Amino acid sequence: MIDLHTHTNFSDGTWSMKKMLEEAEKANIEVLAVTDHDTIKGQKELANMNYGDIYTGKLIPGTEFSVVHDGIYFHLLGYGFDYKKVEEWVTKECEERKLDVKEEFRLMCESCKKNNIKIGNLKYDKTMGWPVEVIFPEIKKHLENKKYFTDEEWNMERGYFERCVTNKKFPVYINVESIFPNAKDVADKIRKAGGKMFVAHLYRYHMDNKIEFLDKLREDGIIDGVEVCHSSFNEEQIDTLKKYCKKYNLLMSAGTDCHGDKKPDIKLGVGTGNMNVSKDLIYKWNPYL
Ligand SMILES: [Zn+2]
Ligand SMILES: [Zn+2]
Repeated sequence: MIDLHTHTNFSDGTWSMKKMLEEAEKANIEVLAVTDHDTIKGQKELANMNYGDIYTGKLIPGTEFSVVHDGIYFHLLGYGFDYKKVEEWVTKECEERKLDVKEEFRLMCESCKKNNIKIGNLKYDKTMGWPVEVIFPEIKKHLENKKYFTDEEWNMERGYFERCVTNKKFPVYINVESIFPNAKDVADKIRKAGGKMFVAHLYRYHMDNKIEFLDKLREDGIIDGVEVCHSSFNEEQIDTLKKYCKKYNLLMSAGTDCHGDKKPDIKLGVGTGNMNVSKDLIYKWNPYL
């Protein structure tokens, strides 16, 4: 069983690296990738740690990058790269840059104004939460805004930010190119350091045609492969992505997106049910087996 998509407390997971490795050992994960958001701190810790006593499976170094391509925000998983070769660049372009929530807030307010969506004069600082946690309730306070949204959009509890940044037709679409790095740049840099790039959890994005987006990533040379299994996918989605990879000779990966105790229903290796993906899935590209 493999799990190539997990998070520790180097990003938004709750477990330490040591705890992650202990849990992976307990869960009999044969190949594990720890893929914290926009950082290589996990790789650094693993390099300085004698983890053989804790975890006996194989480890693939990895990072989940927040990137933008053609105005669409999404996540790219980079695997198997030499972190030392990109250390300075990741620190500057990914670790520091993604913290710019003030800019995100400004773009959201600007987009509301441009699209005639009424909001009050809002002041923002980080202690108030994520920008969406301030803006979306404000939009909903003004009932005259409802006409711009579908019922589903108006009533959504989650996914507002994703819609803002992945769907150009959303009434409050924002282009976050000024906040997150360009997908092609990230892919080129990580490949130069020996890595492979995979698009993460395709079905979580809110664009109308997801396969069209996948086509674009493939044609523009951004991905080597696709995360074909993720704990949020159903059987049909997994099947579609596997067929797509076979058709276009793309590599495949699989991961639960385990965040430790923050999302206790998503367990290492098995996700919310019995994901249990065999390492055969990655034999084509994995030098670590
Ligand atoms: Zn993600
Ligand atoms: Zn993730």
